Amino acid sequence: MLKLQHIRKQFDEKVVLEDISLEIGTGEIVSLLGPSGSGKTTLLGIILGLTDMDQGEILFNGNDISRVPMNKRGFNIVFQDYALFPNLNAYDNIVYGLRNKKGISKEEVQETIDFLELGPHLKKRISELSGGQKQRVALARTLVTKPKILLLDEPLSALDGVIKESIKQRIQSIAREFKLTTIIVTHDPEEALTLSDKILIINQGQIAQYGTPQDIIQQPADAFVEQFIIRQLQIKRQNIYQLFGAAHA
Ligand code: ADP
Ligand code: MG
Repeated sequence: MLKLQHIRKQFDEKVVLEDISLEIGTGEIVSLLGPSGSGKTTLLGIILGLTDMDQGEILFNGNDISRVPMNKRGFNIVFQDYALFPNLNAYDNIVYGLRNKKGISKEEVQETIDFLELGPHLKKRISELSGGQKQRVALARTLVTKPKILLLDEPLSALDGVIKESIKQRIQSIAREFKLTTIIVTHDPEEALTLSDKILIINQGQIAQYGTPQDIIQQPADAFVEQFIIRQLQIKRQNIYQLFGAAHA
């Protein structure tokens, strides 16, 4: 179980995160949801150990890991832009993180490749892959390191339609099959509501609400939550109406 206590972060004069406390159970999928600039990526970086915090504690299974460096925490991330190496093929990208890591067999790597159906693409250069394939390579590269927590920064934002839906289902099945605690940053309420067990809504660096999708829809904590969720869903609906013509509106 992951427990964040009173986390605070400031860049220069600007307070980016203020008094963030929450608990995430093992195997849960939690979305960090909020508008652009609300501090989501900063919070993900703090959990990973990439970004220092100014105040607060992080406990993992009862141990204080606040001062444990990133490479000793055993968490891993898929970055928003995937950060794949363009000069390596898909396979070499997938095994890149295993260079200095012992105890992970070829068979285990192959299982991840099979799970993400990447077999036919292993020899391809990154530039030859579609958006969904790149995202699956990025997921595989992170999963082969057997992270104790999987962190994903806006994993669906560069994808559309059917591909988005398919990656969403893969993320859900990874979390369920491996009972892997998964934390996902998104600015899209629809993604958060359909993907996660719990949603942390952040507004200007503070927790607006933390609850299940049902809690949030049925009992939005304040006007911000209500408007953010409803406005975004309405924009989506309008786009769909425009796509199919006013007759279906
Ligand atoms: P989000 O991911 O929700 O869009 P971020 O966590 O990236 O938001 O950023 C939150 C705020 O912190 C923004 O105002 C951003 O400009 C600022 N910020 C993020 N990283 C840095 C940094 N390394 N130095 C200074 N300001 C930063
Ligand atoms: Mg971000």
